[in-house]
Amino acid sequence: MHTDLVAALDIGGTKIAGALVDGDGRILQRTQRPTPAQEDGDTVMGAVEEVLGDLAGSPSWAGARAIGIGSAGPVDATTGTVSPVNVPGWRDFPLVDRVRAVTGGLPVELIGDGVAITAAEHWQGAARGHDNALCMVVSTGVGGGLVLGGRLHPGPTGNAGHIGHISVDLDGDPCPCGARGCVERIASGPNIARRALAAGWRPGPDGDTSAAAVATAARAGDPHAVASFERAAQALAAGIAATATLVEIDIAVIGGGVARAQDVLFAPLRRALRDYATLSFVQRLTVAPALMGTDAGLVGAAAAALHAAPDTTAAGVG
Ligand SMILES: [Zn+2]
Repeated sequence: MHTDLVAALDIGGTKIAGALVDGDGRILQRTQRPTPAQEDGDTVMGAVEEVLGDLAGSPSWAGARAIGIGSAGPVDATTGTVSPVNVPGWRDFPLVDRVRAVTGGLPVELIGDGVAITAAEHWQGAARGHDNALCMVVSTGVGGGLVLGGRLHPGPTGNAGHIGHISVDLDGDPCPCGARGCVERIASGPNIARRALAAGWRPGPDGDTSAAAVATAARAGDPHAVASFERAAQALAAGIAATATLVEIDIAVIGGGVARAQDVLFAPLRRALRDYATLSFVQRLTVAPALMGTDAGLVGAAAAALHAAPDTTAAGVG
């Protein structure tokens, strides 16, 4: 029987995933439910309790000594509350207390989803062995997290590294967060598609107007599709360069659906980085695709719990 297990939850706007994870990051048991994102707070919590119930039904559950939660943000680790933008029924929702109540008082560690994927990439993925890293998810939104001095840096509330809402265009378009010209407003998948369409790109016969379809068109040479990815790459490069200049990261890891465009994104990103990361101490900065895939949120939440729990044998994790 494993005795150094943690239960991990990955809570997003479309699904709530749960897993039992061992000290080496192996997923022993997994389950998930759709997020009833438009329902009231208790209904959403009901889906979380069903996921935990599935895990508690496993014979391995007896070895679980902590719970790690990576949640769509904003989160507040100081109060144990969450207010995910895409789950309106949860505003300052006391997630940590509610999870502790149904799991027999196990310690609960809460971090934002961007911080969770960062923990996973640092533990087992593209940022492994790097003491100072920025990890990002570029998909419907743009999130991220930081590793500084060899350790995960969630910040006091669990949101540090939220690069999607750094402004890189002072007079740019209003962002849903209230600011202007944010990285996310330029580089997220929906914004890549919106800008390509506005410039004159037209989808194929299947009508697919996703960022993936824009990437396919860019690969085929469509100038509007190419330009939209170049603009997204420029915004990402400016945000990455600012981060590197502030805290001296040496690698930026990029995952999420938009990163699957591969060279359509990474080639202009590496070029743009040379324009923005100019000082001597950031010139060695590299960018790399994420390696952890769709389990990053679960593995990262587990890493946070393993690291935070007392009497841990997993020193150095996260
Ligand atoms: Zn914003």
